[in-house]
Amino acid sequence: MEDYMVKAITESKDIIAVACVTTNLVNDARGRHGTYPTATAALGRALTGAELMASLLDPDQRVALKFQGDGPLKKILVEADGTGAVRGYVGVPEVNLPPKNGKIDVSGALGSNGYLTVSKDLRVKDVYTGVVRLHSGEIASDIAYYFSESEQIPSAVGLGVFVERDGEVSAAGGFLVQSLPPSDDERIDAIVSRIEHMDSVTAQLRDGRLPEDILELILQDIPHYIIENRQLAFRCSCSRERTEQAVIALGAEEIRNIISDRESVDISCQFCGAVHTFSREELKRLIEEQH
Ligand SMILES: [Zn+2]
Repeated sequence: MEDYMVKAITESKDIIAVACVTTNLVNDARGRHGTYPTATAALGRALTGAELMASLLDPDQRVALKFQGDGPLKKILVEADGTGAVRGYVGVPEVNLPPKNGKIDVSGALGSNGYLTVSKDLRVKDVYTGVVRLHSGEIASDIAYYFSESEQIPSAVGLGVFVERDGEVSAAGGFLVQSLPPSDDERIDAIVSRIEHMDSVTAQLRDGRLPEDILELILQDIPHYIIENRQLAFRCSCSRERTEQAVIALGAEEIRNIISDRESVDISCQFCGAVHTFSREELKRLIEEQH
C-alpha cells in the first residue's frame, strides 16, 4: 500500500479529521539513518505527526518540528510541506530501549523534560514560531498539547509505528482531529470517547483497515465528506547546487584550509543522508568564481 492521507470535514464545518498511513516513508527514513527500533519509532511518529500537521497546509507552505529532550535520543527534527513531502532525523540513531508496559518506550528515548518548537512558513509575512514544554515525550500528546496551548485549537492526535523483531516497520500511521469554533461539546465528547475505545492505529492498519476506515470510525454518524486525498513520501529538498551554495558561504580562506590536505570533501545532508562529493579542483573553481 502506498503512503497517503485523507482529510474530511463535517457538513457543519466544526470538525476537521485527517488519517494517514506512512509505513513506507518511515521505513525509508529508517534505512537512510540506520535507526535502531526505539529511535525508528520516535522518528516515525514525528514524521507522521509532521505530515498530519502539513495536511492542513497549502502546497507552498511548510512546517518544521524540533523535539528537544533530556533522553539519549537528544532531539528529533522533522519538516513537512503541503505537497506531502517530509524529511527528518534524530540526534542519536543508535537508541534502543527495552519496552515499557509492553510498548515501545519513545518517551524514555526522547525524555519527558524539554521543548517542542514548531515553525510554520505560511508564505505570509514572517515565519510563525511556537514553543511549548514537552507534555509526555510520546510525540502524539506533545503535538496535541502544542495545538491547544500555542494555537488554542483543541485537538486529538494519535500516532503509531509498529517495529518488527528484525527492525523493519510493518505499520505506521496516525490521525488528527480538530474542533473549529463554534464547537459542539456533545459532539466532541462523543468523538473523544470513540478515540479512547478504538484500537491503536497500528493495530487497525495491521488488520487491513485503511485511513478512510479510521476516519469513519471516528466520525461515524456525523455528516461529513472527504475534501482531500494526498500522497505522502520521504523527500528531501537538498541538492548538489544547494550544497555548493553552503560551501561558498564558508568563504575562500576556509575552503582553502579544507582542501590543503585533501583530494576531495564529502558533505552529507543531515536530513536525508545524501552525500555530495566535491573534488579539490571543483572547490578551487568555486573560490575562483567568487572573484
Ligand atoms: Zn537531503
